[in-house]
Amino acid sequence: MKKLAAILFLFAIACKEQPAKKISLSQMLASGTWVDLSYSFDSHTLYWPNNPTGFKLDTQFNGITPAGFYYSSNQFFAPEHGGTHLDAPVHFAKGKWSSDEIPLQNLLGQSVVIDVSSKTKDNADYLITVADAEAWEKENGKIPDNAVLLFKTGWGQYYPDAAKYLGTAEKGTDAIPKLHFPSISPELAAWLVKNRKVKAIGIDTASVDYGQSKDFKTHQIIYAENIVGFENVANIEKLPTKGAFIIALPMKIKGGTGGPLRLIAWIPGNAD
Ligand SMILES: [Zn+2]
Repeated sequence: MKKLAAILFLFAIACKEQPAKKISLSQMLASGTWVDLSYSFDSHTLYWPNNPTGFKLDTQFNGITPAGFYYSSNQFFAPEHGGTHLDAPVHFAKGKWSSDEIPLQNLLGQSVVIDVSSKTKDNADYLITVADAEAWEKENGKIPDNAVLLFKTGWGQYYPDAAKYLGTAEKGTDAIPKLHFPSISPELAAWLVKNRKVKAIGIDTASVDYGQSKDFKTHQIIYAENIVGFENVANIEKLPTKGAFIIALPMKIKGGTGGPLRLIAWIPGNAD
């Protein structure tokens, strides 16, 4: 009898559900994958055609100092809006957040990726529609509140080839009407601010308005709501349809209307 009791006791222990293993934050983060969504800044960084200058890096010193140690230091100059960058809401909406005023919470969040690359293939002037967002929701559920909404047009494959990515490699004001790349329709922008609650909108083209836009309506609509923008987002194709975690760290320019942006994503792995 004693023996049976001991066996039953051991059996009961074996059957007892294992308590959920506690893992630390660093273990959890180590189990996922980090994705770099920023392009490097260099002499090839793309800017709007009428920007008088691009990204400039001047060497201040690079070599052995008189004291015998190696030292290097540069200075850089760049317009706010080019390469992978932030659009602060004040860029198109007076009185709204400048770069330094955006709360950190508005620069972080769960991503949603709406892929319209099949629509842009033969149409560089494609405007992403409300129907595109609705089709995504039909398959994936409602765009969650506080999401970082990213649009994948497939244009990232052309960066930094200006002729392909922007539609023209020409510079100056006369080149602006020659811009051709897809982006978000003002109708979709209006639908999003009215019906969904996203905190940031990003795209893998040069602007949240398409190349042929004259009035930058999408900029006006979303930035009036203090939604922040990310333009020239890199590596969008490496993100899942939803559920990655985005961290956007723009240069904290006081009073800035935008600026160079280090944009990264964390994709959860199988933590065990
Ligand atoms: Zn911008």
